[in-house]
Amino acid sequence: MPRWVLHIDMDAFYASCEQLTRPTLKGRPVLVAGVSGRGVVAGASYEARKYGARSAMPTHRAARLVGPQAVLVAPRRPVYAAASRRVFEIIARHVEVVEQLSIDEAFMEPAQLIDASPEQVTTWANELRAEIKKETGLPSSIGAGSGKQYAKIGSGLAKPDGVFVIPHAEQLDILHPLPVGELWGVGPVTGAKLAAAGIETIGDLAELTEKEVEIALGGVVGKQLWHLARGVDERPVAPRAEAKQISSEHTYPQDLTTAPEVDAALKRAAAESHRRLVKDGRGARTVTVKLKMSDFHIESRSATLPYATDDADTLLATAFKIVRYPDEVGPIRLVGVSYSGLEESLQDVLFPELDQEIVRPTRVSTEYESGVSDHTAGPEVDVVSTAAPKPGQWQATQDVFHPEYGHGWVQGAGKGWVTVRFETRASGPGRIKSLRADDPLLTPADPLDSLDWREWLERGDG
Ligand SMILES: [Mg+2]
Repeated sequence: MPRWVLHIDMDAFYASCEQLTRPTLKGRPVLVAGVSGRGVVAGASYEARKYGARSAMPTHRAARLVGPQAVLVAPRRPVYAAASRRVFEIIARHVEVVEQLSIDEAFMEPAQLIDASPEQVTTWANELRAEIKKETGLPSSIGAGSGKQYAKIGSGLAKPDGVFVIPHAEQLDILHPLPVGELWGVGPVTGAKLAAAGIETIGDLAELTEKEVEIALGGVVGKQLWHLARGVDERPVAPRAEAKQISSEHTYPQDLTTAPEVDAALKRAAAESHRRLVKDGRGARTVTVKLKMSDFHIESRSATLPYATDDADTLLATAFKIVRYPDEVGPIRLVGVSYSGLEESLQDVLFPELDQEIVRPTRVSTEYESGVSDHTAGPEVDVVSTAAPKPGQWQATQDVFHPEYGHGWVQGAGKGWVTVRFETRASGPGRIKSLRADDPLLTPADPLDSLDWREWLERGDG
């Protein structure tokens, strides 16, 4: 029986959540990123993507591409987590088996679509998207096909705010002209092998014989890709256990013998793990650095933060505090970084700038770029301390409350004044007010209030 697998992907999810809860940002090029401009972009609105800005791009680069109209917004993980829970709650009303891939992405194989026509699948998908839009205000796209690979390609073709069904009969006609990089599992290494073999499209790959694939790509991965290119993807849709940790490690062909080499390896592993952490949508409390020495003995050291965070600078700074160097432990052949203690609820994202303030005094931040930092300080595991912002100190894009004007967010602060845009999802575009920074009536607020979903949140399952 022909299967229908669907892939749903929320459109520009983090940026869309910001535009939903801060209506003046609708239609604006929003970059969800540390407002200091360091680190990488966690999300970019479609308006920002027009300029070439993308998530995972260094923030300063994305901001430069977009220009002065760019709106930098600090990430508010609790808002995205709540929105995600609500979206998945809606999906669960219609589909029994959901395989969630990240905070805003999932595969579905709805029982009611067995044997359905492509038109019926389109209608069903549009109804689900409409229900999600109506209830949450958030746009999504859905792709559908005979297997996971084709559903995923379909949602890419459907974006933004659309549905793309790949009918079984037209599957190969649609797939074969696409670049081979669209197939899952084609990373940089496989991509280079394919390019060397002159394979550009999915169709080029499909045309090879099994023997040719083995020679060009080798073993298991090559054969899997070849099957995918030929329209065979039988992988089941199944709920996934939630990851307990996210890690990345590399073995180096030549032992690392200097501190700058270890620094580079640590940054590489930390950045890879961080990319996956952002995709996962949770924050980490514990950072573990794993080293394997040339004599094969393994050393793992961990540090635990007072709260869960997904801030790249904070996590990297923590890894730098516990890493050891060849002058202490001898030549190193493997460096890994893992993040664990994964939590959805993050308080730190209220004040991402403050996190960086906290780590700054420990001398483990950006000096590493130039390799001039001082590695002789011993590892301190518990040096990161919590600090609450002082009254009258406002962070750009922070959520605030004023009894007269309601819930709002800080647009700017300085010289004893703070400019606040008072608005929520329910208010429509709000007005801007300038207040004294020490106005006793102005208080920090829960970001979740910007959703104005009190009833849903109070039901307890939100
Ligand atoms: Mg998405």
